[in-house]
Amino acid sequence: MRIIFLLLLIASIFNVLTGSAFSGENFYDQKRREMVEKDLKARGIKDEKVINAMLKVKRHLFVDKKYLDKAYEDHPLPIGEGQTISQPYVVALMTEALSLKGDERVLEIGTGSGYQAAILGEIVKEVYTVEIRKGLYEKAKERLKNLGYSNIFVKYGDGYYGWERHSPFDAIIVTASANHIPPPLLKQLKNGGRLIIPLGSTVFYQNLTLVHKDKDTFRVKELGHVLFVPMIGEVSKR
Ligand code: SAH
Repeated sequence: MRIIFLLLLIASIFNVLTGSAFSGENFYDQKRREMVEKDLKARGIKDEKVINAMLKVKRHLFVDKKYLDKAYEDHPLPIGEGQTISQPYVVALMTEALSLKGDERVLEIGTGSGYQAAILGEIVKEVYTVEIRKGLYEKAKERLKNLGYSNIFVKYGDGYYGWERHSPFDAIIVTASANHIPPPLLKQLKNGGRLIIPLGSTVFYQNLTLVHKDKDTFRVKELGHVLFVPMIGEVSKR
């Protein structure tokens, strides 16, 4: 009896030490599964590729240590410099709207924490992401490298101009709000490609807008209201 008690005690100490008890990976894995069921699937996210990526990418590694306990709640969270990581549902919704198959090259404007880029990196062949704030660019680049994403390329600069050298892209995702679509982005989108952007007032809410490019003409669909931090740089001068 005493031996069994001793073994149980050793096993629980081992669990705590290896972090697989309450504060460890199992805890976050569980939280992530709950997030996918409750905030994504129950609200209509269906694309298996998106669901698997959201199950796999550890959102708690992209948020400030201060917010670790909130990493799997369905809210945006501060990432420094007044910017935010988007809420999981919106990340899933925007990714799903791009109808990705897996062999695409995608451009993201607004790297932020790198979380959206990581989700895309799990699904497509190559991700190109541009960030205008140096501090955030450096942190995200380092984080994505440490996580082993060799198919994600991060650039410091104004995303208004896209990333011409690697264009055209199969899909473009803008994760900061703007009152118009930067023309260089429309130009760098392939025929047959999709672009998604929170479009409208950068002070109030925006319309999540999906654009299909076909034979150099554009079809536009609105997917609902969202609230994003504003895109800065060239876009705000026009
Ligand atoms: N996709 C991010 C969250 C984006 S928050 C994530 O998954 O964490 C919006 C980001 O857009 C901020 O980091 C902000 O600095 C950046 N941004 C704003 N204007 C930009 C511009 N003109 N070009 C590139 N990035 C821009």
